[in-house]
Amino acid sequence: MINFLFLSAKIVEKIEMRFDPEEVIEEFEALTKEAGKIQEETLKKILEENGGTGYLQQWGLNGRTDSESFKDCVPLVTHKDLEPYIQRIADGDLSPVLTGKPITTISLSSGTTQGRPKFVPFNDELMESTMQIFKTSFAFRNREFPIENGKALQFIYSSKQFKTKGGLAAGTATTNVYRNAHFKKTMKAMQTPCCSPDEVIFGPDFHQSLYCHLLCGLIFCDDVQVISSTFAHSIVHAFRTFEQVWEELVSDIREGVLSSRVTVPSMRSAMLKLLKHDPEKADTIYNKFLGLSNWYGLIPVLFPNARYIYGIMTGSMEPYLKKLRHYAGELPLLSADYGSSEGWIGANVNPKLPPELVTYAVLPNIGYFEFIPLRGNLDGLEPTPVGLAEVKRGEEYEIVVTNFAGLYRYRLGDVVKIKGFHNATPELQFICRRNLLLSINIDKNTEKDLQLAVEEAARHLVREMLEVVDFTSHVNFETDPGHYVVFWELSGEASDETLQECCNCLDKSFVDAGYVGSRKAKVIGPLELRVVKRGTFHKILDHFVGLGGAVSQFKTPRCVGQNNSRLLQILCYDVVKSYFSTAYC
Ligand code: AMP
Repeated sequence: MINFLFLSAKIVEKIEMRFDPEEVIEEFEALTKEAGKIQEETLKKILEENGGTGYLQQWGLNGRTDSESFKDCVPLVTHKDLEPYIQRIADGDLSPVLTGKPITTISLSSGTTQGRPKFVPFNDELMESTMQIFKTSFAFRNREFPIENGKALQFIYSSKQFKTKGGLAAGTATTNVYRNAHFKKTMKAMQTPCCSPDEVIFGPDFHQSLYCHLLCGLIFCDDVQVISSTFAHSIVHAFRTFEQVWEELVSDIREGVLSSRVTVPSMRSAMLKLLKHDPEKADTIYNKFLGLSNWYGLIPVLFPNARYIYGIMTGSMEPYLKKLRHYAGELPLLSADYGSSEGWIGANVNPKLPPELVTYAVLPNIGYFEFIPLRGNLDGLEPTPVGLAEVKRGEEYEIVVTNFAGLYRYRLGDVVKIKGFHNATPELQFICRRNLLLSINIDKNTEKDLQLAVEEAARHLVREMLEVVDFTSHVNFETDPGHYVVFWELSGEASDETLQECCNCLDKSFVDAGYVGSRKAKVIGPLELRVVKRGTFHKILDHFVGLGGAVSQFKTPRCVGQNNSRLLQILCYDVVKSYFSTAYC
């Protein structure tokens, strides 16, 4: 019998010399046909490697490696439960705390929900599964959208790396991946090496890195076949910036002189090696822009050989799709895979689906997955999690992960829906983070509810040719009764009349019965729409980067808690107009 767990590691090695997408698809098909069995084998392997750790020993598994014993003995946990163990590792405890082999690297998750990055263990196995996911989705993508000998304009950035108290390297998960030798080799094998040099990706100032990424894109504009980033937000952010700096970029090419805004010496010298005095190219690029209307279709005009745009486009990235489509024109948008700093989960193996319909097929050998049903906890008790082979189509679940890097029955906090199956493995649609965003009374509104309300209300802006650039929310308990506050950054100035309509529409669009009832009974006050200055959400991004986050992993926090006072300060300081809903008067 083929041992898939070892096979995937071997394939990673092979890929460094040769990449046969059909071979990867074959392996994926074989794995997913036996998904249930592979899950049991994967758990067994995880427990064999790590059964002797202090963490697992305390739960009395006593060497058992079957899923029933595992679920009976080991409790479901959140990051908070594991924090003391991870901290011990970060502080230099070399004993087997969570894993048999010592952890040498720590990842910082974006920590969007808590407002501060969380530490999670990172190791070679996580790196391997990252590459397995990348290769799998690439193999399927390449069947539909083949690319050859091209380059990728990748808006990727590293975070600052630092040493923990115990001397472990710490950085965001994406940084740990980009710094790993496997990453570069795999990108090369996938025919899409990044067109920017390492000095740009790993530069200490992301504004300068972004400028240089854009310049590299222009220098290699005929070679670029893929435009990508981890999350779609970074692509939109990049082209919004492009709108502001394009003349400077063209002038750099015309003169062969790098803009003085790039001051980091290593970045400057790397860029100067690529930059040539090329007035002809500058003219060509300049003339291309003259034909554009409001930057519609900018990307294919800039990169005539681009085949698609690639990055995570689901979940909290959906609000950026409209703008991305505007820049993309006819170019297809392909959503990237599903995972987290804690580990990957599924690959997009149906690349032709539009981002709104994308699903992720779970790779059954990269971790052991459980699913907590969201329906059926009517008695108030948390339902028992089910295994990957027991999930039902159409149902929603919260995902629980057990991986090779020391997380056991770890609640990721994401809600997914089972849309179907690829062979015997489920295809998941990402729904939202499980935690409630907005709640004052008996009302319950999630990130998704907020997104839908914003989409609905933003329709009123169309007649003024405006759009919501970004948004977030807050529950204000300082008023009596408390009320929801929604912050909007707009692409231009809207009339008071329109904004009042938007505000009323937002209020009406939270259709959760708890909210509607509470609004009618006046135990929740009128919703408030606060419009902030242009650039406010850039300040939020800067704040996040200042905390050690990487732009590559940035997700706008959709709700700002009272304890996140710095973020609230940034938002409140920049409010230019505010409106209270009259919808329930
Ligand atoms: P991080 O905390 O930076 O590791 O981000 C991980 C989180 O990003 C996941 O738990 C999800 O909430 C979100 N995420 C990752 N991949 C996707 C995806 N394909 N679609 C939607 N959300 C995603």
